[in-house]
Amino acid sequence: MYVNSKGMEENTYDAIVIGSGISGGWAAKELCEKGLKTLVLERGRMVEHVKDYITANKEPWEFPTRERTPPEEIKEHYPKQSRTGYTVRESSKHWFVKDSEHPYQETKRFDWMRGYHVGGRSIMWGRHSYRFSDLDFEANMRDGHGVDWPIRYADIDPWYTYAEGYAGIHGMNEGLPQLPDGNFLPPMEFNCLEKHFREKVAENFGGRVVTMGRTANLTQNHNGRVKCQYRNRCIRGCPYGGYFSSNAATLPAAQATGNLTLRPDSIVTSIIYDKEQRKAVGVNVIDRETNEAMEFNAKVIFCCASAVASTSILMNSKSDAFPDGIGASSGELGHNLMDHHFRTGASGDYDGFADQYYYGRKPTGFYIPRFRNVDKASEQKDYVRGFGYQGGGSRESWQSAVAEMGFGASLKEKIVEPGPWRMGMTAFAETLPYHENKMTLDYENTDKWGQPTVIFDAEFKENEMAMRPDMANSAAEMLEAAGFKNVQTYDAGSWPGLGIHEMGTARMGRDPKTSVLNKWNQVHDVPNVYVTDGACMTSAACVNPSLTYMALTARAADHAVNELKKMNL
Ligand SMILES: Cc1cc2nc3c(=O)[nH]c(=O)nc-3n(C[C@H](O)[C@H](O)[C@H](O)COP(=O)(O)OP(=O)(O)OC[C@H]3O[C@@H](n4cnc5c(N)ncnc54)[C@H](O)[C@@H]3O)c2cc1C
Ligand code: SF4
Repeated sequence: MYVNSKGMEENTYDAIVIGSGISGGWAAKELCEKGLKTLVLERGRMVEHVKDYITANKEPWEFPTRERTPPEEIKEHYPKQSRTGYTVRESSKHWFVKDSEHPYQETKRFDWMRGYHVGGRSIMWGRHSYRFSDLDFEANMRDGHGVDWPIRYADIDPWYTYAEGYAGIHGMNEGLPQLPDGNFLPPMEFNCLEKHFREKVAENFGGRVVTMGRTANLTQNHNGRVKCQYRNRCIRGCPYGGYFSSNAATLPAAQATGNLTLRPDSIVTSIIYDKEQRKAVGVNVIDRETNEAMEFNAKVIFCCASAVASTSILMNSKSDAFPDGIGASSGELGHNLMDHHFRTGASGDYDGFADQYYYGRKPTGFYIPRFRNVDKASEQKDYVRGFGYQGGGSRESWQSAVAEMGFGASLKEKIVEPGPWRMGMTAFAETLPYHENKMTLDYENTDKWGQPTVIFDAEFKENEMAMRPDMANSAAEMLEAAGFKNVQTYDAGSWPGLGIHEMGTARMGRDPKTSVLNKWNQVHDVPNVYVTDGACMTSAACVNPSLTYMALTARAADHAVNELKKMNL
């Protein structure tokens, strides 16, 4: 890709996109395809699709410490990134930032999981992709938390269809109002235990549905990408392009137009506002490697650096006109920080199906859509909103045989026999938009590029806590009704950030006095700045949010191009 680092004149584009992750990739594709000369500024290193997936085909024994990262290294470089327990491994750690290089502060614990490189977290994401429904878009208005979304399902429905169609999401249409159907590729198949579970839940619990997880893994060749090979190594990057990422899909599409300039190693520090023209005219950038400061100009700017980073850039964009930053006049910039809470559910063993197995390593399991507070009959006394489950059934592997300390021929035989069937599930639940859950910037403690660091001050509160026992118990009752043995509930605790769905901090709304963005994702005060990543979210719903960022980004890009044509920006 063409890298531009020349003089001022050449630093002027039609559009600038900050960040190249899920939202930035979509903004780049849409703006370039609509004819805008677009500069994508990405703070991290270049990642070339396929070539740079350096661990994609490695087996565990090819890593000197198998896949375990040495504890000293974790302590020195990844004390926060390792809090997930599954991301900082020898096969995937290179996709996560080093906390030692990218510090942040926690008034209360916040697990900020990041990847700074071309493609952002589109390389490491879990790919679950669900639509919000009107139950979600109307939630704030109905129960009085936060402010009302300025859009409804009908506004975004065609953009979901468009985003799903391009990205390639597989799934089953179930006709549920709380989890709208989509434009899906054929679903992955349930294994025999998951199928049995789906049937038993339908038989025993009216209103509950076990459906196949809707993920952005291709079940057939799609848009020049090759279908998933069932290896379950997606977090390493996929050489087949078998799942949706910026690197495999949107950035190549943008590049194919001839309108894309991608500049890696470019840390955007602030947006430049021109008081005379009453609009943003460009961005300030520091080169990550050389520390050189530079300026790039454009007619329209898309903030897609992820929720916390985009809000940091807005906060840091101080001028006479906006002394507290762009978008700060409402007093809501940095507030209403949300995530999902999870890590509670249940598991159990199943006797039976001993003669059955499954094909490959399917990179997803089942999904149980929200069934609480969806109508009068399912209304709860203790809490508002709800949760869904992600889970799966599998047979225990050879590792269970090792626990028995066998040896010789009997051990060999045991190792090749699949173990018993087990099933587990964890709930993902909605968090309310609390004004007091916030991020701010610390200008005293700066990073190695002299930029302010983020301070998090957010927590889960009564409503979230009241939900958690139900999240565990409802899982257990479904497993029991389906004939599972040794059913056990668990609650491993959840902290904001750990769901890796950080949202809010520059919310959309109808009123500039109580929100940062309007219904087209434009900053109320500076309409040629669009924020289309998780920062824009007015509520969190309980479903994984990235599909909504894709749809909102495509919708906003369409709006921006139309406004430019009308000379409104
Ligand atoms: C392990 C894991 C599992 C996940 N599973 C799911 C899932 O199943 N479903 C789901 O919906 N979501 C999931 N997510 C979350 C999903 O990855 C994010 O919601 C999504 O990537 C957000 O898109 P984004 O474009 O806003 O941010 P990102 O994808 O994070 O991209 C932001 C980009 O901006 C760059 N950037 C940041 N600051 C600057 C700056 N100042 N200047 C220039 N560039 C900058 C970053 O380097 C990065 O490349 C998961 C995430 C992880 C890590
Ligand atoms: S499981 Fe499928 S999508 Fe994931 S890395 Fe393997 S082939 Fe690619």
